[in-house]
Amino acid sequence: MEAKEIINLQKDYFQSNKTKSIRFRIDELKKFRKILKDNESLLYEAIDKDFGKSVYETYETELSLIYHEINTAIQKVKSWSKPRRVGTNLANFPGKSRIYPEPYGNTLVIGAWNYPYQLTLVPVVSAIAAGNTVIVKPSELASNTSEVMRKLINENFDPGFLYVKEGGVAETTDLLNQKFDKIFFTGSTTVGRIVYQAAAKNLTPVTLELGGKSPTFVFPDCNLKTTAKRIVWGKFLNGGQTCVAPDYILVHSDIKEKFLVEFKNQIVKILGENPKGSEAYVRIINKANFNRLVNLIDKDKIFYGGETDEEKLYISPTILTNVSFDSKVMEDEIFGPVLPIIEFDNLDAIIQKVKERPKPLSLYVFTKNDNLKKKIIDEISFGGGCVNDTIMHLTNPKLPFGGVGFSGTGNYHAKAGFFAFSHMKSVLYKGTWFEPFLKYRPYTQLNLKILKWIIE
Ligand code: NAD
Repeated sequence: MEAKEIINLQKDYFQSNKTKSIRFRIDELKKFRKILKDNESLLYEAIDKDFGKSVYETYETELSLIYHEINTAIQKVKSWSKPRRVGTNLANFPGKSRIYPEPYGNTLVIGAWNYPYQLTLVPVVSAIAAGNTVIVKPSELASNTSEVMRKLINENFDPGFLYVKEGGVAETTDLLNQKFDKIFFTGSTTVGRIVYQAAAKNLTPVTLELGGKSPTFVFPDCNLKTTAKRIVWGKFLNGGQTCVAPDYILVHSDIKEKFLVEFKNQIVKILGENPKGSEAYVRIINKANFNRLVNLIDKDKIFYGGETDEEKLYISPTILTNVSFDSKVMEDEIFGPVLPIIEFDNLDAIIQKVKERPKPLSLYVFTKNDNLKKKIIDEISFGGGCVNDTIMHLTNPKLPFGGVGFSGTGNYHAKAGFFAFSHMKSVLYKGTWFEPFLKYRPYTQLNLKILKWIIE
């Protein structure tokens, strides 16, 4: 179906008020969960074709998050959508005030390829829970997962309510030329700008989940083994193709040598001597990204790894040392299994360097020292992050997930996701038995005095 045709169907569907019913939303979410459950083998098969990703990792980093979102939404949607009672000021006596979370209406969700299921479907869950219709545009780069999402959704849902439109730039541009009531985009900062500009034409609200270079601070007092283990896991998960992956390490010079030794040990322990043959090690999505990453590996700076295989789209876990902020690898988000290590002595100077760059999506700090944790969290603006861990903040549904500045705008997950797809409609209910004379003329000095006395 063409973009115009689907949006027209979805406009009519929303106008029918069907999606406003909480029962309807819960039933559709239950149906969605059942479809995913019944077809898990297709989902595993497709992602394996796209990335060579194991069943375990697919469940751990994709499906578990979607099921959790669906279950939470089913459980909570009634309370999230309840009108909220708020107090009423004296000027509005006698009155009461309510805030109604209402669905925006017709929404568009554009997904990225690196976690194709959860990045595309978690926002869809939020959009359904909030009572919207949804057009979903998965990334064409993960073509098998895109196709399976189309098949499962389009064969089971009314296209007026939920529909997958597959395609690349041309199809997405077509969609962006339509008028939506909300656009939710996950992807690069560059395309985020294109989406924002298209949305601006219709003053459509957006949530932009973008990327960036996420710094990781390692201090001498950290628990060395756990620090290395957690960074290895977060960095090399999904072959480093994770928006919140540690992009580069800022390690204090007092611990640099020990950290490098332990980091290497943990790579071998977690990923094996030769990750190439391991099902736990995901390959690079395509040739273009493979070549981009190979160009970032400065052979003179390799401390560990650096093995590449174009045929298999394989890049071994690679650590680069003696890197500075001016190195090529420090220009853009790496988005692959290459990890530059920058050494520092002067914390204020290194914080300043981080602050001179675009605000990161994530930041991680490894230390036991509360003053250091506080200093970094207070002084650097970033989307979200962890103290003494990597990535795991996004698995706590009580923490809204999103970026700031160039790493994004708005946030989602569970309740935050529901509100990302809801407009807060404020209504004042007024009683009619009293009307303050001060609202009206005559504008006398005495009335002004009384008004000032009340206000001040
Ligand atoms: P991308 O920006 O290239 O593509 C994202 C989506 O936009 C795809 O569906 C694609 O078809 C569409 N698109 C691409 N070019 C377009 C154009 N010119 N006009 C309209 N639509 C277009 O991003 P990607 O390569 O899929 O994902 C990698 C990027 O996404 C990284 O920067 C990563 O950090 C970021 N990311 C962010 C998050 C997050 O939650 N913040 C999650 C995953 C990925």
